[in-house]
Amino acid sequence: MLHEKLGGLYEEVARRNAGETEFHQSVYEVLTSLGPVVDKHPEYVDSEVIRRLCEPERQIIFRVPWVDDNGTVQINRGFRVEFNSALGPFKGGLRFHPSVYLGIVKFLGFEQIFKNSLTGMPIGGAKGGADFDPKGRSDDEVMRFCQSFMTELYRHLGEYTDVPAGDIGVGMREIGYLFGQYKRITNRYESGVLTGKGTTWGGSLVRTEATGYGTVYFVNEILKSHNDSFEGKRAVVSGSGNVAIYAVEKVQELGGAVIACSDSNGYVVDEKGIDVDLLKEVKEVRRGRIADYAEMRGGAASFVADRNVWEVPCDIALPCATQNEINGDEARSLITNGCRIVAEGANMPCSPTAIKQFADAGVTFAPGKAANAGGVATSALEMQQNASRDSWTFAETEQRLEQIMHRIHNRCLSTADEYGQPGNYVAGANIAGFIRVADAMLALGVV
Ligand code: GLU
Repeated sequence: MLHEKLGGLYEEVARRNAGETEFHQSVYEVLTSLGPVVDKHPEYVDSEVIRRLCEPERQIIFRVPWVDDNGTVQINRGFRVEFNSALGPFKGGLRFHPSVYLGIVKFLGFEQIFKNSLTGMPIGGAKGGADFDPKGRSDDEVMRFCQSFMTELYRHLGEYTDVPAGDIGVGMREIGYLFGQYKRITNRYESGVLTGKGTTWGGSLVRTEATGYGTVYFVNEILKSHNDSFEGKRAVVSGSGNVAIYAVEKVQELGGAVIACSDSNGYVVDEKGIDVDLLKEVKEVRRGRIADYAEMRGGAASFVADRNVWEVPCDIALPCATQNEINGDEARSLITNGCRIVAEGANMPCSPTAIKQFADAGVTFAPGKAANAGGVATSALEMQQNASRDSWTFAETEQRLEQIMHRIHNRCLSTADEYGQPGNYVAGANIAGFIRVADAMLALGVV
């Protein structure tokens, strides 16, 4: 239920952004947490800070024409939603996936404002991407697409203006092509304009691992707060992209076993624990499918086609694939099978129904804007290194990531306590993220 002072605003957002259901969902989720804040601080409503937050500062939509390997002209649609720059330059990833449309970019950009705020670092919120499907495309096609995309986007970017990075479908290869084109057009080696770069050309160590590692560090903080650890725990991870791979690696480093992971064709179960080197070989080197993993692992693992990984019993669930992958049915099966902790490595993988079921069943739920903030936080560390023309060791960077996750965890818990909802990570993350950005907006005036 929304606070009486916020219901009208939600109606307005839904009406003015018709059909953008994922965006509505992400706004609703934040607004549901803000009731006690509005009671304590009516100035946030009186100054229209919340209404301003729901309206992006700038939305860019553009044509991306390119020529495929057969000589056929292809047209995609590109987006960049620069949502809020009260805390620093716009910051957030680019997603290349056929499902991308304005509603998805806006939900991701809105989430990013609060996530970035929670990190405590000087970064605003944004997101972008295109409805381009990299699956099955050659390297050359991906390069030509990235060059065309950047030929429009470059004019909106800058290390003090807007700093994109990766997301689904955009990794180091794509960031390389984008950076190459930016450098060519502007004639500037402006390292701080993109993050997630290769380590030989301005990237930070640990950026590749950061989202997955950070999510697991967050869960480790939850476990520690209950005098518990990963030792002997069974975890299930959905997805097998960048976030999933490094979540698997860190769970196993900390003594747990990840017994299943997935892709859009199905899932693999490996009772001895996923062989992370083989997973990297299949997904990062060969760009293959998760079914190939089972085949290459011989009898040790089995592939289950077209079914949902959440039917595999586990203690800890880490959804690291995409939005709304856990709905009521999946949540019910996790709860019935005894799952105790769910932490979002992806953005908004759990639907509102699922989150409510976890709360009712006493399952600890860590929302993405807190649990997966390690990725963007390490992007901010990359920006720091670029600004000082320095590069830090793996160990030093990872230590900073771990400290950041520790601080985010404690900030969520102390804020939840302060607002009378002990142990509620959703309330803690939304309120703490909101207050930092809202106070900055009040200080900067009506702009
Ligand atoms: N796409 C990532 C996220 O969802 C990372 C963004 C970034 O590093 O700028 O937070």
